[in-house]
Amino acid sequence: MPETQAVLPPGTDARGVVSALAHEGVVRRLYPRGAAGGLDPVLLRRLLGEADARGPQGLVLALLVQWATAVPLLADAASSPLAEKVLRSALDGETLLALAATDEGAGSDLAALGTRVRIPDGTGDGDLTVDGTKRWVTSATTADHALVLARHRPGRHFTSFTWVLVPLDAPGVTVRPADTPLFTGSGVGHVAFEDVRLGREHLLGRPGRGLALFARHIAVERLASAAWGVELCRRVVAETARHLARREVDGTPLDRHPAVRQRLAGCAVRTAALHALWTTSRDAVADGHDGAAAAVLKAASGTTVDHVLTVCAQLQGADGFAAGGIQQLRSEAALFGIGGGATEVVLDTVADRLPSVLDGLAP
Ligand SMILES: Cc1cc2nc3c(=O)[nH]c(=O)nc-3n(C[C@H](O)[C@H](O)[C@H](O)COP(=O)(O)OP(=O)(O)OC[C@H]3O[C@@H](n4cnc5c(N)ncnc54)[C@H](O)[C@@H]3O)c2cc1C
Repeated sequence: MPETQAVLPPGTDARGVVSALAHEGVVRRLYPRGAAGGLDPVLLRRLLGEADARGPQGLVLALLVQWATAVPLLADAASSPLAEKVLRSALDGETLLALAATDEGAGSDLAALGTRVRIPDGTGDGDLTVDGTKRWVTSATTADHALVLARHRPGRHFTSFTWVLVPLDAPGVTVRPADTPLFTGSGVGHVAFEDVRLGREHLLGRPGRGLALFARHIAVERLASAAWGVELCRRVVAETARHLARREVDGTPLDRHPAVRQRLAGCAVRTAALHALWTTSRDAVADGHDGAAAAVLKAASGTTVDHVLTVCAQLQGADGFAAGGIQQLRSEAALFGIGGGATEVVLDTVADRLPSVLDGLAP
């Protein structure tokens, strides 16, 4: 099998897919230099593209979080035999991970998050205690462990946050599925932590590195999400073209109608532009964790996916409202402008780094 070829096993359950691909050796190939050494973005894109074509979209979401964010973050931060063991089990496809950053308050204001971890003084064996609530966590109802971003001291300072590895069956943890008809297969839900006692080996990395680790790994999640965005747009434009070719107005197939074909071509152009941006930024983000490049890509994918899905949904007419049709997909695809950082939030990042973003475009 060529290095980048991947064949998803049958089934739409994230745990089953993760397990089957690990047993075929695909998961290890995804991390050619080990999970802490970065992933192969082309192989990841191929896997997400296959999952997108298969659906449901919730499956793609769960795979993306596992492979692009949770496993690499765990590998980067694992500093105890317990964390190493969970990492090995995830790489072997036996453990599904969730990544819980978004709190009850505005997810766009991470520095305000309220989930707390009390860390006993010194380096003794005293228990950690976790309290708080995380909302809209992918794989919350299906994962074995969650990587939880918590504060160990009050205030908004960058060094006030720490990741904790929390078994989702630990006493004091309550998981509730999110009340939504969308994202089947994602296991998305809300998680409450009430006086959850854990040994110190559940700390991930040095206390205070939480936001630094988040910034490194959310960059790769944004690269993965843009990869999924390109694959989704390619598929939807092609499906819409086929749909239009089958429908006639006044004896002419709709895909030959001048205004219709130009709108579809416009979607293809935007998809091509996102693909080009993904291709030119992928190494800087996958290997260099370039946050500015990732923010540009995330802003572009949020707006591109929204445009393409809106136009294609319009062009599919009433059939788009059939069960599982493009109108449902369009609702789910709105996540590209919200999940992992709303478009406005990543535009703020681009605005903060405008000179270097523009310098990077010099010939
Ligand atoms: C299906 C699904 C799966 C998810 N999975 C995960 C997961 O696995 N882990 C996790 O931690 N989180 C997850 N999330 C949460 C997601 O990352 C958050 O929704 C996102 O960060 C935005 O936070 P929020 O929803 O609280 O929106 P808010 O922060 O309340 O923002 C609401 C809106 O306000 C506007 N806004 C916010 N900030 C600004 C600004 N600076 N300038 C201008 N406008 C602004 C934007 O339009 C934004 O959409 C998931 C969400 C969904 C829907």
